[in-house]
Amino acid sequence: MTDGLSRSLAGETWDVVIAGGGNAALCAAIEAAEAGARVLILEGAPHAYRGGNSRHTRNFRCMHHGDLGPLVETYDEEEFWQDLLRVTRGETDEELARHAIRNSAECLPWMQAHGVRFQPSLAGTLSLDRTNAFFLGGGKALVNAYYLTAQDLGVTVAYDAQVSHVGIEGGRATHVIASIGGQIISIAGRAFVLASGGFQADIDWLARAWGPSARNFLIRGTPYNRGVLLRDMVDQGALTVGDPTQCHAVAIDGRAPKFDGGIVTRLDCVPFSIVVNRDGQRFHDEGEDVWPKRYAIWGRLVAAQPDQVAYSIIDSRSIDLFMPSVYPPITADTIPDLAGKLGLPVDAVADTIAGFNAACREGQFRPQELDGLATSGLTPAKTNWARAIAQPPFYAYSLRPGVTFTYLGLKVDRHARATGPEGPYENIWSAGEMMAGSILGQGYLAGFGMTIGTVFGRIAGQEAAAHVA
Ligand SMILES: Cc1cc2nc3c(=O)[nH]c(=O)nc-3n(C[C@H](O)[C@H](O)[C@H](O)COP(=O)(O)OP(=O)(O)OC[C@H]3O[C@@H](n4cnc5c(N)ncnc54)[C@H](O)[C@@H]3O)c2cc1C
Repeated sequence: MTDGLSRSLAGETWDVVIAGGGNAALCAAIEAAEAGARVLILEGAPHAYRGGNSRHTRNFRCMHHGDLGPLVETYDEEEFWQDLLRVTRGETDEELARHAIRNSAECLPWMQAHGVRFQPSLAGTLSLDRTNAFFLGGGKALVNAYYLTAQDLGVTVAYDAQVSHVGIEGGRATHVIASIGGQIISIAGRAFVLASGGFQADIDWLARAWGPSARNFLIRGTPYNRGVLLRDMVDQGALTVGDPTQCHAVAIDGRAPKFDGGIVTRLDCVPFSIVVNRDGQRFHDEGEDVWPKRYAIWGRLVAAQPDQVAYSIIDSRSIDLFMPSVYPPITADTIPDLAGKLGLPVDAVADTIAGFNAACREGQFRPQELDGLATSGLTPAKTNWARAIAQPPFYAYSLRPGVTFTYLGLKVDRHARATGPEGPYENIWSAGEMMAGSILGQGYLAGFGMTIGTVFGRIAGQEAAAHVA
């Protein structure tokens, strides 16, 4: 960013200033620009990393009656709501949740009209062709399409533009302070949309919430979502919802990078494996349910183990039953050799596997369904797909908790307006991960992050533009 451009950003009062450059921010920007507003996006990441966690996504969850785009049959409000109620165990705001669900139906055609293309649902471990619409080219293509659309609408985008403070007087925001290409500037605006994600990339904040074990967590998405603006708003008395320990966390390949490993580091082998901890001991039923329903609990299970690490061990009969990680498995011809390569206590692993194999019973192994093939007399039991690990070569993947996004967020109303100590702010809206805790108190429904961001991003953009009109 040149000094000249910094000066020009600071030199005028923008209609709508948007902090963040992911899905929620872009939906807000497009809506506001279409309503005639002069819009500035301040994206904290450099151009190459623009798009936050949104660039890692694959699909969004959408209510619909009858076939819609790539979606088949019907997925109605009540079924969607019941699905959400089940995973959140009631930790949700029904009014906001139903608002998101109802509005999701309109999102798909809107997304198509703004450059997003869809593809038929993937078959296999995640069969979601009735509930989730998959983006052709993934979230990266979606984000790129929205940036192009925004550019065509005259939206100005500044990259490497980290917003650190929202200037608020008497319930009304007047400006933001941003570091743009290393220069600190003040940017004035009439309306502000905060869509800068959760705080999961601030490991110190995670450690304050979770304890020191959080330092071993991996962050599946962008390193730029550090909760700087969330913290700033909290310090100024903004109301929040959610608990800092609640987040979406899954078990991912332990060799994934600290940040931004994305979807390819996900591991789907758990149901066909046994999982042992650092001490070579099993700690949970690997066959509790089909993987899409259980995979989100394994992040927390691994987080609770010593050193926050675990190992999923399978034999050659199961190696082709799941989508592999981007990393090759560790392989050996014997269990002791495998344990040695993993740095695990060899005798303990051999005993655990011998005990597991002895507890397996005759029966039909059916990998595509809950087959009820359970261990007998073993604690913890494996209640489905309990087949002996006996056919060499043997394979293993290390597992670590991979945090997707945190749920502590700004409290918003159905208009996406953020709430201050004296009531709703006059001109501050929030969308996406930054307010998702308003709806997701705990648990997660696949594809709902993008639904929340799209619905509330669009609303925030419309409301912000209406405010300045
Ligand atoms: C690997 C992975 C896969 C996922 N798959 C799916 C999926 O298939 N479907 C689904 O619904 N959800 C999925 N999610 C969750 C989904 O990514 C989020 O719910 C969604 O993208 C949130 O959008 P957002 O715009 O709120 O945040 P983001 O897309 O993360 O955008 C936040 C933006 O804010 C910027 N920013 C941060 N701090 C500042 C600051 N101080 N100043 C300026 N800018 C700042 C960041 O650079 C970023 O551009 C996935 C997440 C990950 C990590």
